[in-house]
Amino acid sequence: MGDQDLAPALLEDQGYQLTGKHSAVKVCYWTAKALTEGRHCYKGRFYGIESHRCMQMSPSIDACNLHCRFCWRYQGWEHEETLEEFDEPATVLSRSLEAQRRLLSGFGGNDRVDPERFRESQVPRHVAISLTGEPTLYPKLNEFLALCHERGITTFLVTNGTNPDALRQLDPLPTQLYCSVTAPNREVFQRLTLPAQEDAWDRLTESLRLLRDLKTRRVIRHTLVKGWNLGWEEEYARLDRLANPDFIEPKGYVYMGRSRQRLTRDHVPTHEEVGSFAHRLAGLLGYPLVDEAPDSKVYLLARDPSRRWLPGREPASLPDRVRTVEGDPLPMLTPALVVPGSPG
Ligand code: SF4
Repeated sequence: MGDQDLAPALLEDQGYQLTGKHSAVKVCYWTAKALTEGRHCYKGRFYGIESHRCMQMSPSIDACNLHCRFCWRYQGWEHEETLEEFDEPATVLSRSLEAQRRLLSGFGGNDRVDPERFRESQVPRHVAISLTGEPTLYPKLNEFLALCHERGITTFLVTNGTNPDALRQLDPLPTQLYCSVTAPNREVFQRLTLPAQEDAWDRLTESLRLLRDLKTRRVIRHTLVKGWNLGWEEEYARLDRLANPDFIEPKGYVYMGRSRQRLTRDHVPTHEEVGSFAHRLAGLLGYPLVDEAPDSKVYLLARDPSRRWLPGREPASLPDRVRTVEGDPLPMLTPALVVPGSPG
């Protein structure tokens, strides 16, 4: 392998468990938090994911066609178009589940972990296909998704959007499909994501047009880096309209991993700065701004707030309403726009 960070010992030091030629699992920070403190990640708050039953994995640990400055991985990608040699999906899934169980086994003897919660964690109900790399470069992604769904495991797939052919061929569709839109225009995109292909921006906009007709829960994520791509709300709104997504997540860049060699702490926006962006975007698109998670500097815009929960995952009590951001118009605060049944 070309990537020094893919040396198994080094990866294992970083908490990864390699599960074959091109896949890896890593226990999410929030999976550990859910086990020890009962706190869930923002996708728990927004959509009903149970973080202690979530497996974070990638089928493309060393394959991506972008080199985003904010990415926390080392980027000596071995593959930029597709994986030439790959494992069967059944192998990837069974090894990933085994690895997750092994990585979590230590929590079994922890006094702070409820035994029932620990038992549940041994049987994941959700896969976050988003750890690192571009998952659509794995040629057997469809079969992998199908196997997860057969086992009753929901799937959140995060793509950088530059592989529209893979999106066209997705079958089955993931439970929730994320497309990252990390630049308001071609020029910022080129500078921030350093794509391997010259037509990457065109591919992204093609994906956005495809997304609007896909019959699954579709999310646009804007990862916002201060001084690089934060602002330009009108241009982002034009891109979002191409996809007509169910949800939009404006999210602040997190200063971690290898991104610290490309960016500085000054590039991390505050939660309030992300909030100003989210409020303006919500106003431009007419999407209600329904929730926020300050721990992760992320906001949720939902075209139809009543559809935010995954089927059967509605919480017993709804989260508090999103906070106000001083000085900004608050499109979500008119009664018609507030999540039905939510406080306030
Ligand atoms: S959905 Fe993402 S953040 Fe939440 S527990 Fe899973 S991997 Fe972690």
